[in-house]
Amino acid sequence: MSPQPGWPDSPARDALQLIAEGVTQVAGFGVAAISVARDDGKLEVMAVAGSDAAREQLQGTRTPIDRLQRELAKADDWGLLRFVPHERLDPGIGDEWGWVPDLVPLDVPDAWHPLDLLIAPLLDEEGVLRGTLSIDLPNDGRRPGEAQRRVLNQYAEQAGRAVVTALEREGLATRVRLAEAARKIVRSASTGAGFSVDEVIAESRLALAEGFQAYGMWIQTFDEDGLGTGAIYSSDGTRIELPGELVGIAESAARRAWKFQRVEVVARELPFGPSITAEQGELTLAFLDSIGIGSILFAPLGAGPECLGNLVLTRIPGAPEWSDVEGAAALDIGHDLGRAILNARAFEREHQLVEELQALDTYKSQLISTVSHELKNPLTAIVGHLEILDSSADLDPHTRASLAAMDRGAHRLVRVIDDLLLLSKVGDPNNPVIPAPVDLHRVLDEVVDLTSVAADRKGLALIVEAPDGPMIALGDAEELTRVCANLVSNAVKYTPKGRSVRITLSRVGDEVVLSCSDEGIGISTEDQRKLFTEFFRSTNPEAVSQPGTGLGLAIVRRIVERHAGRIEVHSELGSGSTFRVFIPAAS
Ligand code: ADP
Repeated sequence: MSPQPGWPDSPARDALQLIAEGVTQVAGFGVAAISVARDDGKLEVMAVAGSDAAREQLQGTRTPIDRLQRELAKADDWGLLRFVPHERLDPGIGDEWGWVPDLVPLDVPDAWHPLDLLIAPLLDEEGVLRGTLSIDLPNDGRRPGEAQRRVLNQYAEQAGRAVVTALEREGLATRVRLAEAARKIVRSASTGAGFSVDEVIAESRLALAEGFQAYGMWIQTFDEDGLGTGAIYSSDGTRIELPGELVGIAESAARRAWKFQRVEVVARELPFGPSITAEQGELTLAFLDSIGIGSILFAPLGAGPECLGNLVLTRIPGAPEWSDVEGAAALDIGHDLGRAILNARAFEREHQLVEELQALDTYKSQLISTVSHELKNPLTAIVGHLEILDSSADLDPHTRASLAAMDRGAHRLVRVIDDLLLLSKVGDPNNPVIPAPVDLHRVLDEVVDLTSVAADRKGLALIVEAPDGPMIALGDAEELTRVCANLVSNAVKYTPKGRSVRITLSRVGDEVVLSCSDEGIGISTEDQRKLFTEFFRSTNPEAVSQPGTGLGLAIVRRIVERHAGRIEVHSELGSGSTFRVFIPAAS
């Protein structure tokens, strides 16, 4: 349970207590009490000195200010003090005031009567009533004379200052406390990306209960379609079961309260606000009684025109009333939480979308892999039979030419299918790389060896620059060979005769860098953006004239990414391209 508001053991209460004690000890009275004015139009007794019985009965009690004002209208003016002799007092008021001394009046004209009222209204600079000092039970049993009134006036002056200071301090402390609660919520709202609605609420729950010094709290959120009722979260994180009827009342009240931009306090002794009907209010009170709650502060949550839920803060019977400062803070917090909920929902939607896309991607990969496998078997048979046919001696040149064309086509299909199978393999999250040290220097030598035939045929110079000795990266040897081979073969393929291709290998920080630069046809800026997507082939006629599947760079990108590496491309149409791959080095 959170501590209840008020001033338990505060310096403010101590100061009031000292003044009250001064009245009893110095001015010669049996009882002195200081009350402060609350937002709800009541005076709350904060300090009682003198009789223990009076303290027990009076401490913390609340009486309506207007009732007192009526009595004061009949009072004698004693400077700061007001005196209403019992003869003028409304009958019954004594009981209402809580404590009537057990006193038999003296048989003298100025005898003090148990129902005499001596009180100093404590006003602030604007003349607003901020509290009272009430005095009772003179030691000498008589109504105070001039000298005693003077002393009492001095105490009334002190009490007035102390009450104003205490109220200001209390207001300041409340504002600081609530600002802190609001700050925590704003923080979770602004970092909302990454939080689910449940987490946002879990984050703010403690801040809210503490900030408002509430006994408990719950938050009800509305479903995203704006209809029906979402979850209800309580202050200790457990799900709260509200009777269905009450859930409905809270929902309609929240929508109205959001429209009016106001909070509602529901408590036995207060009239219902415009957000609920009297019938709804009575039902709510009956429910609160059943769970031992004295009052609630009800604030709508929302963003823009949309009401997204409600926040209910509870206090037990006897706890202080909800102040205007708290109401205003709750309304502000309703805005902060509303924004946080919206952010969290957007994040949840995004997250769900990403999951759906990933599922689609997995499905696509599986489809590609299945279809490719299905194509591979008959194709292998075709290629085999073509070889058998090609080896027979009695073929006329036409048939032989047809067979050669079929063989070329079949081999092209084999390449596409092999690429597709590899693409789905390296894109499968269930098939991660098992990293092992791979000497990229050796990989590069092998690749250059294999590509040199094609390079020689085009009269291209293949220049390799690498430090002596091994250059060890962490990864899968076969896949890294594929990266290297695709980049070098592309450089050779897309570079006109007689020019050169330069491949360098170096270690930069904790990465091995493979760079492949050509003096080829280059890639336009627009094409560079799509370069690594599956089946992308440039629209550049010079590029299209070369055979290719448009899968090579997609495979390269996937391999590099699953090795926790990265790839960069720098290219200018007509002057050549440089691809640079960074792969984590083995330590
Ligand atoms: P493929 O070469 O089989 O078409 P890739 O995925 O390897 O498929 O390359 C995609 C496209 O990128 C190529 O069609 C080509 O237009 C362009 N490209 C790749 N490498 C180079 C390069 N070194 N120079 C110019 N264009 C290139």
